[in-house]
Amino acid sequence: MGIVVQKFGGSSVADVERMRRCSRWVMRAVDAGHRVVVVVSAMGKATDRLVELAEEAWSGPGTMAFERGEGGEVRVKPGSGPPRREVDMLLSTGEQVSIAAMSIVLEAQGQPAISFTGRQIGMTTDASHTRARIESIDAGAIRKQLDAGRVVVVAGFQGVTPEGEITTLGRGGSDTTAVALAAALGAEACEIYTDVDGVYTADPRIVPNARRIDWISYEAMLEMAALGAKVMHPRAVQFGARYGVPILVLHSQQEGPGTLISERIEGMEKIEVAGVAIKADLGRVTLTGLPNKPGVAAAIFAMLADHQILVDDIIQTVVPNGEGGSAVTVSFTVEHSDLADLPPVMDKVLEAVGGGKSTIDVGFSKVSAVGVGIRSHAAVAAVMFRALADAGINIANITTSEIKVCTIVEKADGERALRAIHDAFGLGGG
Ligand code: ADP
Ligand code: ASP
Ligand code: MG
Repeated sequence: MGIVVQKFGGSSVADVERMRRCSRWVMRAVDAGHRVVVVVSAMGKATDRLVELAEEAWSGPGTMAFERGEGGEVRVKPGSGPPRREVDMLLSTGEQVSIAAMSIVLEAQGQPAISFTGRQIGMTTDASHTRARIESIDAGAIRKQLDAGRVVVVAGFQGVTPEGEITTLGRGGSDTTAVALAAALGAEACEIYTDVDGVYTADPRIVPNARRIDWISYEAMLEMAALGAKVMHPRAVQFGARYGVPILVLHSQQEGPGTLISERIEGMEKIEVAGVAIKADLGRVTLTGLPNKPGVAAAIFAMLADHQILVDDIIQTVVPNGEGGSAVTVSFTVEHSDLADLPPVMDKVLEAVGGGKSTIDVGFSKVSAVGVGIRSHAAVAAVMFRALADAGINIANITTSEIKVCTIVEKADGERALRAIHDAFGLGGG
């Protein structure tokens, strides 16, 4: 029998009692003859508390990225944010606690186990602190312990640069640790145990009549995850697709069939829309008065990429400048987590392109429908816009691709928009 990787998320290991319940799945796989690698997240809301600690140590609670302007608007605090190297040093401690506790829980039941930090298994990443990318894994240390009959308990979410600096993979990154390990070890499957019993047609916390999906392709799951379905970290799905690791999403506290994420099976994805997703916190950057000449957009987005700022939904328009010529306006959305980095980068951008002005607004959501079938159904977009119109929700921007239709709406309308679209596609059960 082969290797199985089992990942347990924060709420699933929030206390020892829950860890014991998780250990049932570990013991069951061991009893069935598998060699088991366990990946755990920090216990409960431990990572959130560490983020708060970093903010408090830096400049007071909640001031890491935002402040209130004179008009009461929420705006980015210029040049804010504690040193990211130190943030990673702090955040990585959450998983060091849970791996040790989980190993003790297993040992207490007579199951030999050993815990490892990211460094101890050579989880090597690049140096982009708080959002590092995995570059290589040294599977040797893990194999040695598995061969000795131990369950290996690995810290999710953390890595180490070739220079020995501790990094983290971005919030929710333990999923990525698990799937990357499954790929590196040639595991049979990667089981993601969480607080829902599978992947749903929408976040069941926001859309009460959402249905569990039995099977979804990597392709559709990747879009769902990237568009806000936080049940899976997008990069984990990418690893799964690239290395062909079947991913099973299961409830950590109860038995059930879960959701299988795997290669596309011909004929399985007939339904146009697999699910809908929401990203609640987006900011919008608008650059006005830019010179209307070749190379301006290239310069802007190259600079944003250099600073690893993820840009979404770009709109460019040309407007008369009142002096007989024309100027360019460019606007794009960014994740709230990137807002703090923006002001100094935008200053550099405007300097490089020779003029213009930048403004940053917060308070947008992106609501999307995803499905492999969308590519053959132009009507999907029409159904979605009609649903939003009937709900009286204004659309700030629309983008479409082969397998998704996305709309930007005011944050206050976001969840209502999600429910309206879910209903319009008839995704609800019962
Ligand atoms: P873990 O701590 O186990 O990693 P997460 O909180 O990261 O768990 O992810 C599980 C949560 O994802 C669920 O509680 C649910 O609210 C949310 N979620 C968002 N979209 C979906 C979806 N389409 N299907 C299932 N869960 C979803
Ligand atoms: N503990 C980390 C977080 O809360 C990683 C994870 O849970 O996947 O983001
Ligand atoms: Mg998660």
